[in-house]
Amino acid sequence: MFNKNNRNNRNLVLWFVFMVLVIGIANLLKNSEQTDVQDIAFSDFAIKNDISSVVVRGPYIKGFLKNGKQFSTIAPYIDKDLIKGLIDNKVHVEASYSQDSSLITWIGLLLSWIPSLLIVGMMFYSMRKMSGKNGKAGNMFGGTKVRLATKNDKKVTFADVAGAEEAKEELREIVDFLKNKKKFVNLGAKIPRGVLLSGPPGTGKTLLAKSVAGEANVPFFYTSGSDFIEMFAGIGASRVRDMFETGKKNAPCIIFIDEIDAIGANRKGGVGSGCEERDQTLNQLLVEMDGFSHNEGVIILASTNRKEILDPALLRPGRFDRMVTFSLPNLEDRKKILEIYIKKIVSDNSIDICQIARGTYGFSGADLSNLINEAAIHAAVNDKSSVSQDDIEKAKDKVIMGSKKKSITINDEERKLTAYHEAGHALVAIKSKYSDPIHKATIIPRGHALGMVVRLPEKDQVSVTKARLLDDLSVAMGGLAAEKMIFGENYVTTGASSDIKYATNIARNMITKWGMGDAGYVHYSYSDGDYSNSTSESMYQIIDQQVKQITSNAFNNAYQILQSNLGHLHKLANALLEKEELSGKEIESLLTDKAII
Ligand code: ADP
Ligand code: MG
Ligand code: ZN
Repeated sequence: MFNKNNRNNRNLVLWFVFMVLVIGIANLLKNSEQTDVQDIAFSDFAIKNDISSVVVRGPYIKGFLKNGKQFSTIAPYIDKDLIKGLIDNKVHVEASYSQDSSLITWIGLLLSWIPSLLIVGMMFYSMRKMSGKNGKAGNMFGGTKVRLATKNDKKVTFADVAGAEEAKEELREIVDFLKNKKKFVNLGAKIPRGVLLSGPPGTGKTLLAKSVAGEANVPFFYTSGSDFIEMFAGIGASRVRDMFETGKKNAPCIIFIDEIDAIGANRKGGVGSGCEERDQTLNQLLVEMDGFSHNEGVIILASTNRKEILDPALLRPGRFDRMVTFSLPNLEDRKKILEIYIKKIVSDNSIDICQIARGTYGFSGADLSNLINEAAIHAAVNDKSSVSQDDIEKAKDKVIMGSKKKSITINDEERKLTAYHEAGHALVAIKSKYSDPIHKATIIPRGHALGMVVRLPEKDQVSVTKARLLDDLSVAMGGLAAEKMIFGENYVTTGASSDIKYATNIARNMITKWGMGDAGYVHYSYSDGDYSNSTSESMYQIIDQQVKQITSNAFNNAYQILQSNLGHLHKLANALLEKEELSGKEIESLLTDKAII
């Protein structure tokens, strides 16, 4: 555990010890006043003749008898005669005002404080409970919630993360830095302070972050964005401060902030805008990130599955300026993940990893590990001694039904359609002279998209030619054209809506901004789906008609390209169905292989 928390617990214990002491002393004083003192009536006192000494304090009279016994009484009146009589009887008389009585008031005061002290103590205690959910770390006011993964946690290394090769490659550099800081510092290299891990849930972001610490053999501090959201303003910010302090004290180390979108969401607009506490926390995070040196040896890894809502300030150079993207595992990666988890259970030889991997399209790493676990449970419930393929099939239904994620429930029809759609984009791109080369084509779902074709420009472009725009339009229409060609007019899907939107935008800009249509060389301003007032009604019609014309031409062009290369389209689509992901090179070699067309 983190030492700060121990200190807080100690504070609490001290409080209680102090309070117990106060009560104890008060009782002691009270008791010592009363021990063996005999209360007697004043009338008895007035006629006593064996008194040796008295102390008179207002109406209170205390004294000793000649036999040493102590007595006390309260006088209804004290007059000269009484005192004189005592003195005459050779009684030692003393008068006292201040000391004893003030002691009594003091004790009284203290006693009257005790209830309030108790109340205050309890308030502290409950506040501490509130700010430290589950009674975990956290102190009375905003202590850190950063948890150190303890030695008992099993160390995780890159070997425990299957697939995700690109992500591992990126993070190897961080491992290297944590291990050999000097090497980098000597060369004057600046090491990134923050790396953002982004991707869908369950794809191994947390796991990989932990394995970076494991590989470099440095401490791993875990915290989650929601730990910083508290009901008291300023607590989140002070937690951020504490977190960085912890990091610096333990450098080299890794601080991991899970689900950073809880604090890092864009401040302008967005649901939680105007939430002061969160803004303060985010500001503190930005300030701290700017404030510590590049070579401190503290590296902040943060994860999110909603990169797009993050405040741009977080992504600026010097903060989370590195990004590692995670995606759902493809067929090969699913095999590797399954191997890891099947090794951990007792399985029989009916298990066919290839088949399971094929049947778990759209599953994340977490879904796969859950699948194997459910299969083991299923086998145990049925009193089997090992897990069989059948258990896995049964578990699959359970996992799919239990998961509300759409990606998991993609059926074979949808998958086939997606494969043709993406193959359509890819093929039109390959056959268009001005299109950028393909980087990869995939039918692994990502966000709202069922698949995609990624093209990478060969060089930076400042301006774009009309010929290229027309080719881009055709490529955009390639998906829809392929759907229509293979499945027929009535079976095209809504999946092409973003393609159509993209094409419409380009076409509209060509006509209204770039003078590439038949609307003359005029800038027609258009925003939020409306033309500006200066554009006449008849002009709208011309523009809309031309937008339609350009996009239909693009569609027809794409359709034609696909039709004259139908063999290639089938080949590409089948390869995608088979492998789920094809690189640009793979596509190229697939299509130039003359043996099979
Ligand atoms: P994320 O942080 O991306 O939501 P996690 O890292 O928490 O996902 O993953 C949840 C679990 O899923 C992990 O603990 C691990 O058991 C399993 N898992 C996910 N991805 C992988 C992977 N690539 N290799 C092995 N296990 C994985
Ligand atoms: Mg996570
Ligand atoms: Zn598309």
